[in-house]
Amino acid sequence: MPGTGPVDVDFLEAPCSQETAEEVIRDVTRSDIPPSRNLGTFVSPECDPHIDTLVRRWSRHNLINRAEYPGVTILEHRCLAMLRHLWHGSADTGGCATTGSSEAAVIAAAELLRRWRKQNHDQQPNLVLGPTAHTCWLRFCMFWNVEPRLLPPRQGEPISDPAAVASSCDAGTIGAVATLGSPEFGLYDPVHEVSTALDELHARTGLDIPLHVDAASGGFVAPFLQPEFPWDFRLDRVVSINASGHKYGLTRPSVGWLLWRTSWSTMDELALAAPYIGTGAPEPTLSFSRPSAPVVEQYLQLIRRGRSGYRATHLRSRDIAERVARQLAEQPDIEVLSGGSDLPVVTFTAGSPASAAVTDLTTSLADKGWHIPVYQSRTPTHPTTGRIVVRSDMSSDLVDELTTDIARASHTFAAKGES
Ligand SMILES: *Cc1c(COP(=O)(O)O)cnc(C)c1O
Repeated sequence: MPGTGPVDVDFLEAPCSQETAEEVIRDVTRSDIPPSRNLGTFVSPECDPHIDTLVRRWSRHNLINRAEYPGVTILEHRCLAMLRHLWHGSADTGGCATTGSSEAAVIAAAELLRRWRKQNHDQQPNLVLGPTAHTCWLRFCMFWNVEPRLLPPRQGEPISDPAAVASSCDAGTIGAVATLGSPEFGLYDPVHEVSTALDELHARTGLDIPLHVDAASGGFVAPFLQPEFPWDFRLDRVVSINASGHKYGLTRPSVGWLLWRTSWSTMDELALAAPYIGTGAPEPTLSFSRPSAPVVEQYLQLIRRGRSGYRATHLRSRDIAERVARQLAEQPDIEVLSGGSDLPVVTFTAGSPASAAVTDLTTSLADKGWHIPVYQSRTPTHPTTGRIVVRSDMSSDLVDELTTDIARASHTFAAKGES
């Protein structure tokens, strides 16, 4: 893979010309594929010139300059209020904008640890994670010296096993994390069942384990496509939720959201006041300076689309995911594992363990300029898995092209195998 070797360029003494600088950048990034053909990423910038203009205008406003740009803070609080309603919070639900779900996850986990520490001093803390927990939770555990308890999947399904979550908790458990939309399969953990299992644990043993929902992708999808599915503040045990604005919240990178059930004021101990920038208001985030543009864009998207707009957009993506899944299922030796039932994500594996069908297919598609990630899944039954993330910026033409290329690619490698 290019770009992974050691790099050594010295700091130039003399400036180089604008033309040369641009040429170098174009040259070095030549092999980077256009985002529209990157079928592995959840990040979906809509190509809209009006939004580009708006975003450019706000990219120079530092979000942390609260006193200077109070209007942006109002927009941030309006986004938080809308998300509080969307996720069935109450008036005392508070939160903050972050640079993405990773930052939100780390802050949420740090808050779980802080609360747990108030009662426990001597023990080694642990965090109970579902089988598809995102790597950001493992990073938190590593940096904060918390034991990660990464659980095996439920029998036959790559999702959390509620009974295993409850039985893995002990007095050292700072919290449990459920994933709403696993990055690997796009499937939702059975959050309500996990919540019930923890309620039963509480009644039986007195262990009261807080539940966080990592809804990086699903937080902006489930409320529109599966409004009856209870995963959010409707469940009393859910203390906090994070989501990425730049995934199905439909903004450019980078913005995420973190909401707590309890009011903002209980965060005062965690939040570090920043008096020298004017307001002295608490900021619980890890990042300090960052552009206002993604927050302004999030506000724009939320009000421009409304609930029905998000629903229509995600329904279309789900239809595309189902179409791509059908196309894949018709290919020789390919088995579809998930095809848009929760997130509009299609995952597939080879029909038999020894088969190279997944790598053959994705390599052929790479020749057509598509990037489809193939990875070794943590779920042992389906080791080599390919994943296609359907995003709202996929045009109908692009979908036609993709499904045609899938059909052609399979024929090519099937024919090669026979000769
Ligand atoms: C993408 C993702 C993250 C990380 O989110 P960023 O916004 O990229 O930081 C965390 N958890 C889950 C479940 C994700 O899908």
